[in-house]
Amino acid sequence: MSNGEGLAALAGLVVVSGAALIASHRGGGLDGLEGRVSRDEDNLAAEKLDEDTVRALLEAGRRPKARAAVNPLPPRPAPRALAPPPAAPASHSAPIPVDVDFDEMDGKNLPVPADLPKWLRTFDVILINTSAGKDSQAMLDYVYELAVKGGVQDRIVAVHCDLGRIEWEGTKALARLQAEHYGLRFEVVRRDRDLLQQVEHERKKWPSNACRYCTSDHKTSQVVKLITKLVAEKLAAVVRLGRPVRILNCLGLRADESPSRAKKPPLSRDGASNSKREVIRWLPIHRWTEAQVWAQIRKSGVEHHYAYDLGMPRLSCCFCVLASKSALMLAVQHNPALADEYIRVERAIGHRFTDKYSFEDVVEAARKAKVVKVDAWVG
Ligand code: SF4
Repeated sequence: MSNGEGLAALAGLVVVSGAALIASHRGGGLDGLEGRVSRDEDNLAAEKLDEDTVRALLEAGRRPKARAAVNPLPPRPAPRALAPPPAAPASHSAPIPVDVDFDEMDGKNLPVPADLPKWLRTFDVILINTSAGKDSQAMLDYVYELAVKGGVQDRIVAVHCDLGRIEWEGTKALARLQAEHYGLRFEVVRRDRDLLQQVEHERKKWPSNACRYCTSDHKTSQVVKLITKLVAEKLAAVVRLGRPVRILNCLGLRADESPSRAKKPPLSRDGASNSKREVIRWLPIHRWTEAQVWAQIRKSGVEHHYAYDLGMPRLSCCFCVLASKSALMLAVQHNPALADEYIRVERAIGHRFTDKYSFEDVVEAARKAKVVKVDAWVG
């Protein structure tokens, strides 16, 4: 088989409707859903949407087609050529030009320096938190551009918080591929027990806006462990310079997403700082609009997650406790087996998924109604 024939065969294997691909991977559980996958498509269930498949999709310039593209995007350009690595990569052990007095940076709302490429050179590690969602993807591309200008792209580390079975299929693999597109070091962190296990066996209650242990336990605290590891790697080289290791912790939060996110300082001292490390939290795209985010992604030519083409406004957990009911219904229709598992856990702990509705309510509604408009959610 020639390369071209092989690629065509591969594309034929993977190009099914987004719903078919997802439903076949997640398994059945919502009989009677409109547009349920055909038997031929069910045969694809054995094919896991693993990294090789996602990679093949990218190489073939294809991705799973959305069955119900609520927010279809225009075609993307070819991937942009990356800047060559710096001729003489900046060494982490070399003295770093310091034009920021970190002792003065205590408190919130630190001023964002005007010369960002130069400022990036003051950090030993530029840590990009990536969920593979649109905001972290745009942030990654933007910060990479700045780091190239500063000659410090080799200091970028991408970290993905692996949420396991509760994430949209293929998310971790896509996060890896997005990082690899830029030639970045990619780290995966995760808690031993996943969120569903934690809800069922430890907390016995769903997380909520007032108690977001899902974020603190499965994301923030896991990233802090990685920061500890990264600091240990740099410590010997940096300690002789008589200063702590400097970490820039970048998150793709945007003010537009919610009032609480709008209040977050774009630059602040991170609580993970201690005597060995100075951790600065930066929200590089805090003031960006959603249109700017998609423009940056299209400019990059790098693949985005298919969940957006299905109409989801956000990624991360398939079923977010903060999500709108319409978003949950859509997610349920594309992840029926996982929805069954959420119902089982909800019954086992006797605690409703949210104040407004139980998960069973959501699934019942998802069985009956086609989702034509998905409301965003705040949180
Ligand atoms: S997506 Fe929602 S449920 Fe998942 S960690 Fe974030 S806030 Fe919690």
